[in-house]
Amino acid sequence: HLFSDPAEVEALRGNLLAWYDRCKRDLPWRALVRGDCGKRGPALLPAVWVSEIMLQQTQVATVIDYYNRWMQKWPTLQALAQASLEEVNELWAGLGYYSRGKRLQEAARKVVSELAGQMPRTAEELQKLLPGVGRYTAGAIASISYGQATGVVDGNVIRVLCRLRCIGADSSSPAVIDRLWDMANVLVDRSRPGDFNQALMELGATVCVPKAPLCGECPVKQHCQAWRRKLFGNPPKVPDVEDCGVGDCPLCPPATEPWDSSLGVTNFPRKAAKKPPRAMRTATCVLQRRGCHGAPEYLIVQRPSSGLLAGLWEFPSLPLAQDLQEEREREELADHLQAWMGRPVAAKGLRFIGEVIHIFSHIHQTYVVYSLPLDGDVTLDPALSPSRWVTEDEFHASAVSTAMKKV
Ligand code: SF4
Repeated sequence: HLFSDPAEVEALRGNLLAWYDRCKRDLPWRALVRGDCGKRGPALLPAVWVSEIMLQQTQVATVIDYYNRWMQKWPTLQALAQASLEEVNELWAGLGYYSRGKRLQEAARKVVSELAGQMPRTAEELQKLLPGVGRYTAGAIASISYGQATGVVDGNVIRVLCRLRCIGADSSSPAVIDRLWDMANVLVDRSRPGDFNQALMELGATVCVPKAPLCGECPVKQHCQAWRRKLFGNPPKVPDVEDCGVGDCPLCPPATEPWDSSLGVTNFPRKAAKKPPRAMRTATCVLQRRGCHGAPEYLIVQRPSSGLLAGLWEFPSLPLAQDLQEEREREELADHLQAWMGRPVAAKGLRFIGEVIHIFSHIHQTYVVYSLPLDGDVTLDPALSPSRWVTEDEFHASAVSTAMKKV
């Protein structure tokens, strides 16, 4: 399963880099990468840092516009360090996983206030010193921005390496992940580490894709054991994946799930079954009043500064127990609003609008939506949470989640 032949490693690097030079996608953060090594100066925000954080869990096509707006607004570490969390959340609104933006800004603050404005330049230091920078992001910044010969392992790299080396053990297990990091560090090109890492990820994103990989066009197919196995079965010189020579191999597919020839190369990688997302129900109330110019205004409140959707704004909401009757849900919401507005709210005054389903990565959330028109102003208890009235346009420009926009 390893890359133990230096000549093969050399050939694989050459083939992959030649393909990357020919076929790489034109992405905005790639234009700035070279400058990160010097010309843009240490005070500028490394482009790859922002793009990598945004690309975690989010598609390239979605990220481009957010990335461009972010870099325009905060081109330097200093500018980002001075931004408020509110501004960060507003720009991030709709991108999901909001703690990413917050941590990016906290890290910029740390660089400015504790590291004299100098970004750490090795993967080890980046991971150790900057909040929100994990092993992968640290490797990406160090190799792409600062030229350190260190590998990276993300979802795309996992898929490519597992196929190249017929790794069929659970690819999310720590033992397999550790081996993949070892492999990535062996493979990374010593003179063009940033390009090599991007090439490996690009291969996974555009050619060695999850469902229907384009093996015929693949620049490294001659090094790919999964492809060879698909074409030729098990020729004598290639060890069988069920019998790779070391008995109970920790990287082979489990004996209970052998190679399935109908799947071809997509036999790899394999993952243990995911836990189903947790179901949650939340009652949410759209409070509406007539604003000073006659246009309707809506009340939004700010969520706590930690946890899911930290610091974002939403319509007043209340998590519900799973098995409540509809009438009871309505009463609980009325009680909640009453405590907060300091005046009676009748449950029957709440108008049921409908249900909105939103899937977070690990939560299947159902919002049970009510509305409540109000006459005149209401006084809210500021001790409970910050709140404000907004017009529909202001609502859309605020730091609100995609789920709330659906509501
Ligand atoms: Fe992936 Fe196919 Fe290339 Fe192997 S030959 S790395 S399976 S695209």
